[in-house]
Amino acid sequence: MTATIDHLPSPAPGPSAGEPLLDIRGLCVDYLGPGGPETDVRACADIDFTLGRGEIFGIAGESGSGKSTLITALARLQRPPAATTAGRMVLHGADGSTVDLLSLSEWELRRLRWNDIAVVLQSAMDALNPVMRLHAQFADVLREHRKGIGRDELDTRITELLGMVGITPDRARAYPHELSGGMRQRASIALALACEPSLVIMDEPTTAVDVVMQRQIMGQILRLRDRIGFAVVLVTHDLSLLLEVADRIAIMYAGRIVETGKATSLYLSPEHPYTQGLRDSFPPLHAPLQVLHGIPGTPPDLGRLPVGCAFAPRCAHAFDRCRTERPLPVLRGSRVTACHLPEAEDTTQPGQEQPSPGQAAEENKR
Ligand code: SF4
Repeated sequence: MTATIDHLPSPAPGPSAGEPLLDIRGLCVDYLGPGGPETDVRACADIDFTLGRGEIFGIAGESGSGKSTLITALARLQRPPAATTAGRMVLHGADGSTVDLLSLSEWELRRLRWNDIAVVLQSAMDALNPVMRLHAQFADVLREHRKGIGRDELDTRITELLGMVGITPDRARAYPHELSGGMRQRASIALALACEPSLVIMDEPTTAVDVVMQRQIMGQILRLRDRIGFAVVLVTHDLSLLLEVADRIAIMYAGRIVETGKATSLYLSPEHPYTQGLRDSFPPLHAPLQVLHGIPGTPPDLGRLPVGCAFAPRCAHAFDRCRTERPLPVLRGSRVTACHLPEAEDTTQPGQEQPSPGQAAEENKR
């Protein structure tokens, strides 16, 4: 498939995307097994990335790639048997201070949530209380985190927050079930922004709405990011959606980030065969209809990963080294890729070619 994105907007980097906001190093998340360490399953392994202030960082991958586990770990919302077993997560304050998120107690986390880190979940009903009017829910959050806020200021702020996502003041007294799905999701985004956090973690925030509403919501997130300056970690399975809003994208497979790069460049010239397969599985939102190619096979069982590259059984480019040695992430330019292929192509002598995808696929069957 030849990709073209001439018609697509290129999301501008955030207001100060150069300054680090969140540093993730060597993060590992395990599902602890009942029979001791041998029965643990590693759902996220050696996750590394730095998020800039105001940046939108997208994470994509198939179901079971570990992206939702990662986002739950980032928000520190995971519950047993999931546990973060290694790594560091450091949040940088605008004043130069740093907070080690993994060392915080529940009480300290409660103070940090809403004020510094907010979460938008897949279903607005997970965030909104169905038996409380919107106004009361916003008031609860603001009173808790803006001590001493007066009634007039409260009303003004709630009107402002709802207005930011296109909800008129008369809807403030509505219950969530009286709103459309799109409006509920926009209300949950406004609620997340109530205390002006520097980081908003979003888990498939538009999965439950139709494609028109999806675009409205994503457009609103971009505009709010430009205005307010928060950074976003956005998880979705839809790579073409990420291309529209993300500054950079990380692709996850079998619990690891296999490629990270600037959104447009990664979409146009993916280095990792899995990224290429994922891209070719989704229709671009604006390009003409075309034949889509799914990725053959299914994601591996995380408890029984193959030796070497976890993608090798599905990869048309796999060669001997892939089946014995796990590829490590390598930085080239602004792209980080964990795949043996770029190095093999660099060292291939003229006249000596890597197996074609077709030849490699045949070899895979043997
Ligand atoms: Fe394919 Fe080998 Fe790259 Fe894995 S390391 S994605 S098997 S080429």
